[in-house]
Order: sequence, then structure tokens, then C-alpha cells
Amino acid sequence: MKNHYPFELKPLPYAYDALEPFIDAKTVEFHHDKHVQTYIDNLNKALTNYPDLHNRSLESLLYNLNTLPNEIQTPVKNNGGGVYNHNIYFDILGSSELKGGKLLDAINSTFGSLDKFKEEIKGAALTVFGSGWASLASDKNGNLQIVKSFNQETLIPQNLCSIIPIDVWEHSYYLKYQNRRAEYLDNILQIINWETVEKRYSECASTDFSQCK
Ligand code: MN
Repeated sequence: MKNHYPFELKPLPYAYDALEPFIDAKTVEFHHDKHVQTYIDNLNKALTNYPDLHNRSLESLLYNLNTLPNEIQTPVKNNGGGVYNHNIYFDILGSSELKGGKLLDAINSTFGSLDKFKEEIKGAALTVFGSGWASLASDKNGNLQIVKSFNQETLIPQNLCSIIPIDVWEHSYYLKYQNRRAEYLDNILQIINWETVEKRYSECASTDFSQCK
């Protein structure tokens, strides 16, 4: 999968109905095939006339937003951020158990326990006003924290690597849960693919976005 222009929709790693009954097939289909595709299309549109940027990775574009031509900073931030956040979001869903290992150790020492972590990220996600994300993130030394972000901002400019981004835009839950964001959060936290998340954590713990080309 290339990580530069023209960007392409990353295929879902599972079937539309794989997350039932926690997240319904219709929501997954629209969310991935329509919403994320729109971010892809608009990101490519923004970059079309800037061939100098065509070899730059998504991470590099997002880390260096302020150095991009003025007129494309906002579309790259919104649409590039949308692509980046959703690639991780769909990747880390599925379901498995976390049975020990470096990530569990870090979660225990940072939050007290896995349940406390879930409570804390749920609380953060509930208090994102409007559209945005609540994420478990790691710095380049593996230190964990929960971060809220708005719209399609990424954590990349803070040089933080998102490990578990929870989408709280209404499009991620409205079809099934309507305004019941808390219920969506309880359910999504039951289908985290901890195996994938552990791999992300070990990658994140050595990721320095300032080095991205
Ligand atoms: Mn979304």
C-alpha cells in the first residue's frame, strides 16, 4: 500500500459485518466506503497541482503542515488527517484479549488497570464537544497518555503516535446508537483488537515523526 500521492482507500481488514452486533454492517460500510473515500478524494484533489509534494508520506505532510503552501494547509489537515485517523481506527477493531506484555504493563502503570484505562478513555470521548477523537497515544519513548482532538486533527504535530483512536463523530455511531454515545463507547471498547494494538504500540514507541520523509 503506498503512503503517498495518489492516496488510495485502504481496504477494510474484515467484512462489513465483522463487528456486529457492536458496530453494525451499514455503519461500517458507509463509514469506510463513503466517508473515508471522500477524505481520500479531497486529499488527492488538494495535492494535484503540487507535484513537489507527491513523494511525501502522509505522516510527513501532517507533521510539516505549516510548511505547506498556505492554500492547501487546511484541506491537507482536514482530509489527510481524516485518512490517517481512520486507517488506524479500522485497523485496531476486531476483538481479542490482552494477556500480558509490554502494553499491558504500560497501561497498568499509567492508568492502574485495563478497566481504569477504559473508564478514562470513555470519559475523554464523552466530553469531546462536537466531532473529534479520543485516543490512547504514545510518545517516542513509549509513554502513554489519553488525548482528545477535534475534527480530523491528528496527534502527529505533537509528535505523538495514536495507538487506539476512538472516533466520536456522529457518523461512526448514529445509525445504530443515535445520540447514545456512551453506549457506542461501551461497545467499541469490547472489540479492540489488542493483538494489532500491541504491534502498533511497539512501532509507536520508536516513531519520531520529525524523521518522516
Ligand atoms: Mn469517522
